[in-house]
Amino acid sequence: MIPLRPNIRNMTGYVPGFQPRDEQRWIKLNTNENPYPPSPRVRAAILAELGEDGASLRQYPDPPSTAAREEAARLYGFDPSWVILANGSDELLNNLIRAFAEAGEEIAYVQPSYSYYATLAEIQGARVRTFGLGEGWDLLDFPPRYEGKLFFLTNPNAPLGFSYPPAFIEELAGRVSGMLVVDEAYADFADGNALALVKKHENVVVTRTLSKSYALAGMRLGLAVARPEVIEALDKIRDHYNLDRLAQAAALAALRDQNYFRRAVEKIRTTRDWFSTELRVIGYSVIPSSGNYLFATPPDRNGRRVYDALFARHILVRHFSDPSLSHGLRISIGTREEMEATLAALKEIG
Ligand code: PMP
Repeated sequence: MIPLRPNIRNMTGYVPGFQPRDEQRWIKLNTNENPYPPSPRVRAAILAELGEDGASLRQYPDPPSTAAREEAARLYGFDPSWVILANGSDELLNNLIRAFAEAGEEIAYVQPSYSYYATLAEIQGARVRTFGLGEGWDLLDFPPRYEGKLFFLTNPNAPLGFSYPPAFIEELAGRVSGMLVVDEAYADFADGNALALVKKHENVVVTRTLSKSYALAGMRLGLAVARPEVIEALDKIRDHYNLDRLAQAAALAALRDQNYFRRAVEKIRTTRDWFSTELRVIGYSVIPSSGNYLFATPPDRNGRRVYDALFARHILVRHFSDPSLSHGLRISIGTREEMEATLAALKEIG
């Protein structure tokens, strides 16, 4: 037998949402991608970086992604020493665990939220604790002082879509003795965010992604905002060339085109709110969503049945087998036309 570390041998690994090979034939609402293309300036910037003959690719990219980092810092109102860019926000979640939790130490997150935190902890050999959600989205059994190394709060929550009140997050920052990582992958679709807390509490880190609101899931771009000591640590850990040249060009162009960004986000929010109302009309219960997806439960509370019936019609949504979620479906918000087709299919399925 090859001498693998026991926890690597025994772990299952994270399984991302199903990616059909024949994508054109599907209405794909299962991985919270953006249904619109990124800003046309992104395409132009990538082509400009590539040049006539692709010669720029001979050379390594700028290791700290300086231009994109400065643009993100300006956008969020921070000094660039408070910001880091990464190969998807997944890279930052991974490096935060590596920076703060030794093997055997504890990290925690909310159940349900993003289960990838558990996979990353397993790779590191860190222990995992979860806190359930109460009726009003309070955290069940959360101690007056949480002594673990990291607490991941997904805000807005995925897959449920609700967001936590800012005062609640601030209170948590005071109760977590390690780092509070606010995973804001979907915050651009919400009304508020936790960025202001980064300046007020030294243990708060906010992570963001360009995968959803900037429609760049295929480029792998994420960022974190935290105090310089944290950013310096994350800079030590990351691959020195973590963003390739095309990704850096894409990030800069996307962040600069705020007009395009705002319009795309607004379209998705409008479609989301319309679709929520229509689902309620046909008897679904829908959690008010601050993301680009919503969690909806059919009248018979049989999420699997509806998932299968949609699948048969080439409409892909997300069903979770976890008993606390299996009654419902997480549906990403596509174009208005895609959501009209999905609604028609749900009416037919009954
Ligand atoms: N956090 C949450 C809650 C997510 O749903 C996702 C996307 N699956 C990520 C982080 C990772 O996003 P990315 O690596 O594409 O930036």
